[in-house]
Amino acid sequence: MKFKLEYIWLDGYEPTPNLRSKTKIAEFASVPELEELPVWNFDGSSTRQAEGSSSDCLLQPVAVHPDPVRTNGLLVMCEVLLPDGTPHASNSRATIPDDPETWFGFEQEYFLYRGAAPLGFPAEGFPAPQGEYYTGVGFKNVGDVAREIVEQHLDLCLEAGIEVEGINAEVAKGQWEFQIFGKGSRRAADEVWIARYLLLRLCERYGVDVNFHPKPLGAEHDWNGSGMHCNFSTRHMREVGGEEYFAALMDAFDDHKDHHIAVYGPDNHLRLTGLHETAAIDEFTFGVANRGASIRVPWSFVRNGHRGYLEDRRPNSLGDPYRIAGRILQTIATVPVDELLAEETLAA
Ligand code: ADP
Ligand code: MN
Ligand code: MN
Ligand code: MN
Repeated sequence: MKFKLEYIWLDGYEPTPNLRSKTKIAEFASVPELEELPVWNFDGSSTRQAEGSSSDCLLQPVAVHPDPVRTNGLLVMCEVLLPDGTPHASNSRATIPDDPETWFGFEQEYFLYRGAAPLGFPAEGFPAPQGEYYTGVGFKNVGDVAREIVEQHLDLCLEAGIEVEGINAEVAKGQWEFQIFGKGSRRAADEVWIARYLLLRLCERYGVDVNFHPKPLGAEHDWNGSGMHCNFSTRHMREVGGEEYFAALMDAFDDHKDHHIAVYGPDNHLRLTGLHETAAIDEFTFGVANRGASIRVPWSFVRNGHRGYLEDRRPNSLGDPYRIAGRILQTIATVPVDELLAEETLAA
């Protein structure tokens, strides 16, 4: 049987890579497993990943999902390799730490745009101020076609086997969110990229663009920016936790705050102003149920003996989820757990 394999990868544009894809037809007796998918290649000189004189880059399949809109179609997420098989400089996935016991939940916010303005904005000027749009219903709040798009996107993600956890209308008109959960940094981030891909591809036929900029309407207006809050929990945080470990973890996040901001998405200074449910970009703060903090500590976390997950609210909508999750794991790794575990066992 012939299959349509859509090889998907990230290009070499800075500071934000674009999604690219092309189709390979290949024959298999039945639906192929990841290991059966061949390495492929593309012209890196057209994606800012190579010089024209030596333009071949390799596509190494790393995740595969059914393609819900194509007969015998598969979505094949790839890493970009150099001809010698080593990771290309643009391949952030290859270099991040991973740990399937660390769970991530990304809340991807975005605007739907038609032409130069968010969907539902009048031809000139602005619609009614923010207030009723968040989780809103009705034509005046969500317009006519946005609901159809987000519903179809949800179905596409589910049919592709993406761990989508929910969707909601956001604070600004034309702004929406979907949430992706995954065990391990690579798995969660792969699925964010595939969910972005499915949304972009779906919107083509509506003449609608997805605007992932973190502050598309500018910092001078009273319109929210877009984030990609990153919720995370290690096995230790879920099963052991404790106030002492939490304090040490927050100290580490404070120590490394600039390293985090460096990979939390471009133009974040426009969004992390201290207004619109954000923290200031140059400060690290945390607080229980505080949506104006860098890290929000859910009530459930405190109630359960400082166990569970935390929400880093600083990553933005344009951020690369590989780098974001990787940095969080790097900072967590600076906090020793064995000694704390040992102390707790002694105390018990
Ligand atoms: P809010 O909008 O209130 O910040 P959402 O419901 O949009 O929260 O998103 C919560 C996110 O937290 C989801 O992406 C979910 O997958 C994630 N999450 C829930 N439990 C855990 C956990 N134990 N570890 C990591 N992420 C988690
Ligand atoms: Mn949310
Ligand atoms: Mn949100
Ligand atoms: Mn959130």
